[in-house]
Amino acid sequence: MGVGYDLHRLQSGREMVLGGVIVPADKGPIGHSDGDVVLHAIIDSILGAAALGDIGGMFPDTNPAIEGIASLEMLRLAVERIQSRGWAVGNIDVTLILERPKISPFVEAMRDTIAAALGIGPEAVSVKAKTNEGLGEIGRGEAAACHAVALLRAASRAR
Ligand SMILES: [Zn+2]
Repeated sequence: MGVGYDLHRLQSGREMVLGGVIVPADKGPIGHSDGDVVLHAIIDSILGAAALGDIGGMFPDTNPAIEGIASLEMLRLAVERIQSRGWAVGNIDVTLILERPKISPFVEAMRDTIAAALGIGPEAVSVKAKTNEGLGEIGRGEAAACHAVALLRAASRAR
């Protein structure tokens, strides 16, 4: 098992992408990639579960070859890496912390998108969202954060 966490500052005029889904919002994350906090937290959780370091080690922001890479592609590459070590993703649980907009209309699309990238069914991907009750940077809408937990299983020897 592994745990992941990510946070991005939010800025006007940036597109909000969460769990690989574009969410209409007045602000979006600042970041080297699309700044998808959900996918970045998941990547760290699966790399962590396999003790394969973290997203910064796998995708250093000094590498021009990955400038502007979509986080969904980063997730697929991270899954390939853990699979190459004999692991498969079992299930994922995510808690997104964001003041606005309301995330519930997008949760099913996020679960489907994440599950497809992981090569598992959406029933094995949980996405939960909450606000920070107006407190701190997240509560003021200046940042979005996400926690993720991943369970890996040993892949079948036949594969
Ligand atoms: Zn990030």
